[in-house]
Amino acid sequence: MFDYAVVGGGIGGVLASSLLSHMGKDVILFETLDYLGGCAGTFQRKGFYYNVGAATFVGAEEELPVGKIAKYVGLELPIKPIDPAMVIYLEDKTIRRWRDRELALEEISKAFPELNHKAFWKRVYEVSDAMWSMWCDSLPYPSLTLPFRNLSKHPISFLSTLLCNFFSAKRVAKVYLGNFNSDYELFLTHHTLITAQGFLEEVPFSVASLGLTYPNLTNYYVIGGMGKLLDTFAKRVKVISMKTRVKSIRKKPWGFLIETNKGQYEAKRVILNTTLWKAGDLIEELRDFSERAKRRYSKLWGAFTIYMTVEGELPKDFSHHHFILLREPIPYTGSRSLFLSISEEDDPVLSKEKTRSITISTHTRLELWEGLSKEEYEERKERATEYCLELIYKHLPELRSLKKLQVFAGTPKTFERYTERYRGSVGGIPVIKENFPFSYPSPLTPVEGVYLVGDTVFPGQGWPGVSMGVINLLKLIERDFQIC
Ligand SMILES: Cc1cc2nc3c(=O)[nH]c(=O)nc-3n(C[C@H](O)[C@H](O)[C@H](O)COP(=O)(O)OP(=O)(O)OC[C@H]3O[C@@H](n4cnc5c(N)ncnc54)[C@H](O)[C@@H]3O)c2cc1C
Repeated sequence: MFDYAVVGGGIGGVLASSLLSHMGKDVILFETLDYLGGCAGTFQRKGFYYNVGAATFVGAEEELPVGKIAKYVGLELPIKPIDPAMVIYLEDKTIRRWRDRELALEEISKAFPELNHKAFWKRVYEVSDAMWSMWCDSLPYPSLTLPFRNLSKHPISFLSTLLCNFFSAKRVAKVYLGNFNSDYELFLTHHTLITAQGFLEEVPFSVASLGLTYPNLTNYYVIGGMGKLLDTFAKRVKVISMKTRVKSIRKKPWGFLIETNKGQYEAKRVILNTTLWKAGDLIEELRDFSERAKRRYSKLWGAFTIYMTVEGELPKDFSHHHFILLREPIPYTGSRSLFLSISEEDDPVLSKEKTRSITISTHTRLELWEGLSKEEYEERKERATEYCLELIYKHLPELRSLKKLQVFAGTPKTFERYTERYRGSVGGIPVIKENFPFSYPSPLTPVEGVYLVGDTVFPGQGWPGVSMGVINLLKLIERDFQIC
């Protein structure tokens, strides 16, 4: 009988297992794949390694959520800082997103000289600083007492961000900048799209400020692939059952009976790192709960990804992350941006034998990949791949001449098949005004003893969001858990 059974070894499942194990709980972690990390893992194909999706990493400083967890469990992460965080390409403009705020502003002003950016970006930094200073007290899951808690502990920060929760980022940007052209909107909106899964007009200014300043946090390169972060946190977990798919969970008077492809297990409590919508497939009593969530949170994104192994020389200062913004959408995705990450020259896993590993991703609408015949599906995949690669070679000509040892693509169907994401949707529930903060899903479920972690529960996606969600849950269910 375990204290906790954790279903799924994504960021949420691994961090929850690591913290609970460190607190002395008996934990078993089940992962259906042969690697940890889910959307933020690193997988192998024909001898070469690739990051599945997530490739940028922030939040590792001691005062930020991942750093707090690493310190709590006493682990060093295999990371090194990078600067610029990314390079953005928009037609003939190249914008390096430096960490330093002055340099960053200079670079943005150079690309868009017609606008007076200073006051807008000053406000963006003020709000994001205030948001980060309050994050610990903004957990557990927003209750109606949250505003009072923040007001008493952080009066200045709270008051300065209060209105920013009610107005969209686009509205606030217009107040400071007046009318701006569609290229500047493209620039701003893709910061919020990749961090909050919503466009500038959908995301509250408070949340957008965190996305706009993501490159101004310390960004890190993860040595050996993103999966190494998960392997590091997993060191604290005594029992990990890999290649173990949980098929069903039945409520019993003494706890829960967990049925897997490798046999049955018993636990007093269960933490699901599957999406909110999939909880009902595992636990009969959660079926209605998941069905309601499907109707309530239907605005979802998928990802189209390309994985490549290349061989050849690149300039020494070639950045790790490149973000290409487009005036026209990419066929079969509906997206106007492409994110490319490349491994460091001497990465022992991703760049073995003088190769480099590349992960390219773009948002895509799920329905564009649904209901297709096999031929239609393959044709779309091939055409979208060719189109994306041509765009990449146009903006990053250094990559065109490299020898391609392996190239293949992934769609929402691929994510559904491997990571069991509902309809292949990724990035969680958009952090947009209609959902955030009070209508964002809680980690508590209607079944006592069953909880949720991951990017479909508050406060959302990525390393910072999911790690905050784990801290949030443990603050709610473990009285002795004191992390902040
Ligand atoms: C293309 C792309 C790019 C991204 N870029 C970034 C980035 O640069 N930086 C960043 O911070 N975030 C990024 N994200 C977001 C980030 O990857 C996710 O928000 C995060 O990884 C989700 O973590 P999760 O805990 O919800 O788990 P998931 O990643 O969903 O993992 C869940 C795990 O549970 C397992 N599982 C499911 N069902 C079962 C079952 N029945 N039994 C056993 N195991 C099961 C799955 O195999 C999987 O390993 C990106 C996402 C994508 C798709």
